[in-house]
Amino acid sequence: MKKLLIISSMLFTCVYGIGQTQQAAKPAVQKYPEREKMTPGMTEIWEPEVKIIQPGVTNSDAPSDAIVLFNGTDVNSEWTDMQGNPTKWIVKDGALISVRGAGYIKSKRKFGSFQLHIEWKTPSEVTGESQGRGNSGVFLQELYEIQVLDSYDNRTYRNGQAASMYKQYAPLVNVCRKPGEWQTYDVIYTAPTFRNDSTVYATPPKVTVLQNGVLVQNNVVLRGPTEYIGIPEYFIKKHGPGSIELQDHGNPVAFRNIWIREL
Ligand code: MG
Repeated sequence: MKKLLIISSMLFTCVYGIGQTQQAAKPAVQKYPEREKMTPGMTEIWEPEVKIIQPGVTNSDAPSDAIVLFNGTDVNSEWTDMQGNPTKWIVKDGALISVRGAGYIKSKRKFGSFQLHIEWKTPSEVTGESQGRGNSGVFLQELYEIQVLDSYDNRTYRNGQAASMYKQYAPLVNVCRKPGEWQTYDVIYTAPTFRNDSTVYATPPKVTVLQNGVLVQNNVVLRGPTEYIGIPEYFIKKHGPGSIELQDHGNPVAFRNIWIREL
């Protein structure tokens, strides 16, 4: 019995001892250095300095880093007809005017994402109605039309009036000036991207438009290239940079102060 007590006592001591050792082996609570107290300078980024450019005298004028696509005098240096020949559109009083039957014109240069400024004027002499009055258009990358139309007191389908992304998005408001008055579009366009193995957009094209300084398209996501008939096709031919195109829709619409900044 005495022996048994001694053995039990030894066992207890041993187990307890191990327990004590294990406890002692526990890592101490790690202490991290105190976080440095934030100062205003810690969130200030100085380098590299933001590129300096010169703004235009007015918002119609090209800033210093823009490519001028029409300067009021010469159309042939930056534009051709759709076959690559000199266009029959005319230059008059500093404006580039669409000529019925001359066809679309396209910029010689091709662009990906960009900021575009363009001014347009529908004829002061009002003829026609709905889509037949002062119709033209600005095509982005040759595929996506921002409608140009005399939409002053001229009802048409809402997704086909001036400043619509034609048949995809109506403008947020109708901020059109009277026919015969100059109007502006300022466009921010983000080109689509494609996966290597697919003709579905990896990221679709997106467009923001201000007309006469007012937001009319707010970063809208395009479903596909503009279609006159049918639903825009989401599965399309992959494309890279494309021209700006201006539409001949049979009406003598005038353009001026066209400049673009690549993004
Ligand atoms: Mg049009």
